[in-house]
Amino acid sequence: MPERFPASLQQKIEDRLRYYEDLGISLFYMDRGPGSATLVATEPIAPASSSAPVTEETVLPKPTPKPSSAKVAPVAPPSPLVVPPTGPSLFETMDKVKDETLLKIREDLGECTRCKLHKGRNKIVFGDGNPKAQLVFVGEGPGADEDAQGLPFVGRAGKLLTQMIEAMGLQRKDVYICNVVKCRPPENRAPEPDEVAACSPFLMRQIDSIQPKVIVCLGATAAKTILNTTRGISQFRGEWLEWRGYKLMATYHPAYLLRNPPAKADVWKDLQKVMAELGLQLPKKSKS
Ligand code: SF4
Repeated sequence: MPERFPASLQQKIEDRLRYYEDLGISLFYMDRGPGSATLVATEPIAPASSSAPVTEETVLPKPTPKPSSAKVAPVAPPSPLVVPPTGPSLFETMDKVKDETLLKIREDLGECTRCKLHKGRNKIVFGDGNPKAQLVFVGEGPGADEDAQGLPFVGRAGKLLTQMIEAMGLQRKDVYICNVVKCRPPENRAPEPDEVAACSPFLMRQIDSIQPKVIVCLGATAAKTILNTTRGISQFRGEWLEWRGYKLMATYHPAYLLRNPPAKADVWKDLQKVMAELGLQLPKKSKS
């Protein structure tokens, strides 16, 4: 019997299915309508045709964006900020700068020494992704892998974030990913107020340059820092907030999900709200 799947592809399939199971999606079926070979959620897996070439594309569930002509449900007006701030947020006080490019902002940042974090860094992690992204993810700060590569979310937590983005029907290049501070805090500690104060203007300029439709804050530190609140993230996670004119939602950090996999289901619920806001949807069950 010839092997149906190369070992590497089989491992990828197993990893992806395990991830969907963690999100609470455990059953799949194959839509066998004309021209279709996409597996979608909710029904048992049907065996693949033995003659058809099997690739990751044909066997993994792929959410599909709504066609651009599709009618998008009207967006409800932003809900009021549900997280009482504990004082004026420095993120709120900065005026918006119009018509800046990310390149110009990166040039202005230079080989930055504006705060003490520069002393221990290897590389500045400016941010990465689509300069016109509708969705921006903001984390807390770079870790060891990010510091070494100069790119955000590239370690184990970053791999999980990539899976989360792909589960939404997007790719990393479709979104923009950045952090509250751009240099790695020692021992991965939370950024200190003076470091946040020094670095935050650049984050604000990046966001104002991108003009995203939605910002997702990853983790308690990023959310509490940006929103200037001492309340626990579990009290406002998954809620739509209005922040500097942007719709913002906080959810758990992928590193937390690695330690606490059952929380992936909560994050998936949050991301589905983001998908709805962006007009993205999971494939529907076939009527045939
Ligand atoms: S964390 Fe930000 S402000 Fe501090 S040195 Fe790095 S780039 Fe500059």
